[in-house]
Amino acid sequence: MRLSKIRAAWGLSLLLLTACATDHVVPSTSSTVQAPPAPVLLISIDALRASYLGRGDTPRLDALARDGVRAQWMNPSYPALTFPNHYTLVTGLRPDHHGVIHNSMRDEGLGDFKVSDTSATGDARWWSEATPIWVTAEQHGMKTAIWAWPGSAAPIDGVRPGQYRLFDPKIPAAVRADEVAGWLTGPAEQRPQLAALYMEDVDEEGHSYGPDSQQVRDALHRVDAAVGSLLDTLAAHGQLDKINIVLVSDHGMAQVTPDRVIAVEDMVTMEEATVVSVGQVVGVAPNAGFASTVAKRLLGRHDHYTCWRKGELPARWHYGTNARIPPIVCQMDEGWDALPAEQAAKRRALGHDRGSHGFDPALASMHAMFIAHGPAFRRGTVLPAFDNVDVYPLLAHLLQLQAEPNDGSLAPLAPALKAIPTPQH
Ligand code: AMP
Ligand code: ZN
Ligand code: ZN
Repeated sequence: MRLSKIRAAWGLSLLLLTACATDHVVPSTSSTVQAPPAPVLLISIDALRASYLGRGDTPRLDALARDGVRAQWMNPSYPALTFPNHYTLVTGLRPDHHGVIHNSMRDEGLGDFKVSDTSATGDARWWSEATPIWVTAEQHGMKTAIWAWPGSAAPIDGVRPGQYRLFDPKIPAAVRADEVAGWLTGPAEQRPQLAALYMEDVDEEGHSYGPDSQQVRDALHRVDAAVGSLLDTLAAHGQLDKINIVLVSDHGMAQVTPDRVIAVEDMVTMEEATVVSVGQVVGVAPNAGFASTVAKRLLGRHDHYTCWRKGELPARWHYGTNARIPPIVCQMDEGWDALPAEQAAKRRALGHDRGSHGFDPALASMHAMFIAHGPAFRRGTVLPAFDNVDVYPLLAHLLQLQAEPNDGSLAPLAPALKAIPTPQH
């Protein structure tokens, strides 16, 4: 694990500030103390593929990028799924290192994790291999307010965001954005130092109809308008240029035709193995007595997928050491899904294309977006692609917090920043 520690131009000031108050920042008379950092607003638009930008569907996002910073694209971490990548964005750790190794997991002590199981998503033990930025911020006396970011419902290290909303797909993006705007423009003493907003509309429509669908375009317009209205509220309160905004997605979306599906029962029998996750990254745990049969059956290249022992996956995926990763991992080729036979049959009967992610993060279809805007950023900067582990060091820099040990680096983002802290050795 690479250590990238943000430091310390402000270390002293932070110490002084936190010594003064745990609840809000009290200016000290010391001349070494700088102003408190500008608030940070982190926005995730799930599955907004980098190539969706600049096509006329996202006028407000495009304008924000023109007036601020954008990356050509951002590389998701492996696997290119929602929960692993959202936790990477707020911890700087690869999923292999932060423990949220898939949307569907099995842990010897904890049992099964599924994103639809609120008792699992709210259980801190699933998240406790890492410390998300909102926990560090709260521990330093900063207020945080988080709209349904994966992990925010759990008391990680015993700490929840000061305000948080549980994930509720029935609440439209516009309502969420309004609420976040209210947090950031409310009474000064209650405003969060770190706010976050999550929206899944583009992901939902991408899955149902595919990345090239009109439905995705409509969802982009809706989400773009929601972000636009949030920006307008900030501007009306004189806050727009005082807040550092970081807008990301977790991964892209690939086109899937109805015939490109494999039944997992045709990969391995249920007598021989337990299939821990299906979809694009298929996790397989051989049942007792079947280890070599399953290895013989699965390891290596097949039509439309490849399987490895967990310690032997391609190094560029940084995946395979975490105890939650099952012994064998199969990666589907782009555009192919592995599903239980019943679902696979339904898929073949589907009369139209749909979308999936979870394919090799290096594929253009999996590329995520990155946009930033605000007082910390140089205007009109276009960055070459970087990995999403680098977002966390940026957030720590913006909040003047000491970053926890992580896999990222601020270096790829330095050209977009007006000032960067002295690197720590
Ligand atoms: P996936 O596309 O399978 O990687 O997962 C994305 C889906 O996860 C979204 O469409 C939401 O339905 C769901 N989701 C996102 N955030 C949360 C959350 N905080 N809690 C529960 N479910 C969530
Ligand atoms: Zn996602
Ligand atoms: Zn999705």
